[in-house]
Amino acid sequence: ATPLAVLAGAQRLGGYGMLLRSDDALERAAEVDTVILDKTGTLTTGQMTLTGLWPETPEVLQMVGSLEIASEHPIATAVSKYVEQTGTPLRPIANFSEEPGWGVAGELDNHHLRIGALEGHEQLDDAMAERVATWRDEGRTIAKLEVDGHVRAILSVGDQLRAQAREAISQLKAQGLAIWMATGDSPEAAALVANQVGIEHYLSRQKPLDKAALVEKLEAEGHHVAFVGDGINDSPALVKAHLGIAMGTGSDIAIEAGHLTLTRPNLMSLVDTLTTSKQVTRIIK
Ligand code: ADP
Ligand code: MG
Repeated sequence: ATPLAVLAGAQRLGGYGMLLRSDDALERAAEVDTVILDKTGTLTTGQMTLTGLWPETPEVLQMVGSLEIASEHPIATAVSKYVEQTGTPLRPIANFSEEPGWGVAGELDNHHLRIGALEGHEQLDDAMAERVATWRDEGRTIAKLEVDGHVRAILSVGDQLRAQAREAISQLKAQGLAIWMATGDSPEAAALVANQVGIEHYLSRQKPLDKAALVEKLEAEGHHVAFVGDGINDSPALVKAHLGIAMGTGSDIAIEAGHLTLTRPNLMSLVDTLTTSKQVTRIIK
């Protein structure tokens, strides 16, 4: 391999919004035949807005605001922004903890609070159940606030597809790559985004280790997998993948776990990267 060609390739990738974090990233990229994308923050912008909160009482606003302020998850940012606008005073939370792929927990006035994914088996009153059904139909991401093990409130957030997400997926498919989506979100929210961008193979309610297990399974079948993700919840899969690609807008932990960083908020740079890597390594060989 001529170092000059590698350098030229790296420079060209830089122009496409790719940052190489490992020496063999280009060679790895050239071998990729399967791409798995995370949903929230990868296919979508992750700049979520709170679209529903029920019941919206001062206590509920204070509990969700006080707990989510400590998290960097896109849902937490959406909740914090909303609660701040209401002028609700926040309170310190004791024993805060975060479980990637699920949510956050902590204590307030000796009550145990948790905010995280609505799993579907919870006891909800009629008013809550009605709202959840509507939000599901809209493909919203839905979370619950639990106080001492009881659902006290539900909330929904909305997100937007990244620029040219559908176009990027269609070009990746045209190159003969197999495309998957893996998300920690619900089946309904997963289906909406998968249909919008044109992905047929998708898995929902995937915990961080489930995403890594999917990578492992496809690689055991002989595929070279690129995993594209943005969150702490994606880092086990980014590490396991033949090529880990982190969104530059994502968490530092995800960026450190990847071989490559996408520095532009547009998914066409993913297409450019995989194409260029194949061209460059062909020149080197
Ligand atoms: P994705 O795989 O799409 O990036 P995550 O794995 O980060 O999604 O999150 C999965 C689900 O867990 C979310 O859809 C949400 O319901 C819940 N969740 C995770 N973190 C939080 C949080 N800080 N607040 C509320 N809900 C959360
Ligand atoms: Mg994500």
